[in-house]
Amino acid sequence: MVDLKVQYQKIKPSIDRAIQDVVDSAAFINGKPVVEFATELEEYLKVNHVIPCANGTDALQIAMMALDLQPGDEVICPSFTYYATVEVIALLKLSPVFVDVNPYTFTIECSEVEKAITSKTKAIIPVHLYGQSVDMEPLLALSHTYSIPLIEDNAQGIGGNYIFQDKKIKKTGTLGAIGCTSFFPSKNLGCYGDGGAICTDDQETADKMRMIANHGQKERYYHELIGVNSRLDTLQAAILSVKLNYLDEYIKARRKAAEFYDQAFCNHPQITIPQRAAYAYHVFHQYTLIVEKNRDGLVKHLQEHNIPAMIYYPVPCHQQRAFKGRGKVTGDMKNTMWLSDRVISLPMHTELDDEQLAFISETVLNFFKN
Ligand SMILES: *Cc1c(COP(=O)(O)O)cnc(C)c1O
Repeated sequence: MVDLKVQYQKIKPSIDRAIQDVVDSAAFINGKPVVEFATELEEYLKVNHVIPCANGTDALQIAMMALDLQPGDEVICPSFTYYATVEVIALLKLSPVFVDVNPYTFTIECSEVEKAITSKTKAIIPVHLYGQSVDMEPLLALSHTYSIPLIEDNAQGIGGNYIFQDKKIKKTGTLGAIGCTSFFPSKNLGCYGDGGAICTDDQETADKMRMIANHGQKERYYHELIGVNSRLDTLQAAILSVKLNYLDEYIKARRKAAEFYDQAFCNHPQITIPQRAAYAYHVFHQYTLIVEKNRDGLVKHLQEHNIPAMIYYPVPCHQQRAFKGRGKVTGDMKNTMWLSDRVISLPMHTELDDEQLAFISETVLNFFKN
């Protein structure tokens, strides 16, 4: 699905130097590269505060802890997402309220979210699934009207843009009250282990999240809040500093691969290509097709030809066993169920060449010929 070896080979000297410098300094925790990377990411995202943490799941948890939510408070989220998004809601004893997604953009829409709002709703989590921004402008208006903060799950969307009606552009993850991201190796900006970050423009929220991520302390051994221990290793920060310089180039490579796939499949009666919304600059964390018939047969066919294909995600969150008796479902989840049976993600990374793309595309098309 992802070729990280070739990607590393191309930038080996600078990565190796960055790693060696950290080892030489022996500052493995909270070393200088952590602050440097946070500052670089602030500049890249054009956001006031970036707080590095241990992974994307922690980022979501720290964000929700910073909002002082009480047990039973409702948090609106998609069911068609990675499990971590909703797991954290349940872990904090909050109540997930699942809404359906648009079947072609795979993301939540303002109209569905509004129907799910009650007096108990305390946060909304738009997920920029597969690398395409949620339609944020109407959601921001809704958030303002009801005074409910948005926490963006930007784990798959880093580097992407949201384009407002007046053509103003903002980076995904910087539109809501808080943005969360992951540096898991296969994510668009991946490190060589686990990593994550939270960002916000608000000073007070930033201070609080910094404290929560650090055992609730500002001053060492004086604990003001119940927090967690969630840090980005110095080694990972140093690696991320190098890779951040290549993020835009990596995104271009992903978009080029996506265009190749688009051309191959756009006229096929049984395949729907991922919709590109006018309001988004898609960074293609995943390239996900909708196939009308025999999706699982297609997965098998690709595997037989040594092509990895993945289903993101086969079971929607509201139907996971762990969620039995928890949370609330609004509406019929028709699109979520429909997609779970039809989506298939093809190999997508920064090192795909035309020959590989042609082989993958032909193998997909051949499946539908007989
Ligand atoms: C990867 C991912 C996460 C969690 O990130 P980790 O770093 O693996 O904890 C959360 N939400 C979404 C949508 C993701 O894709």
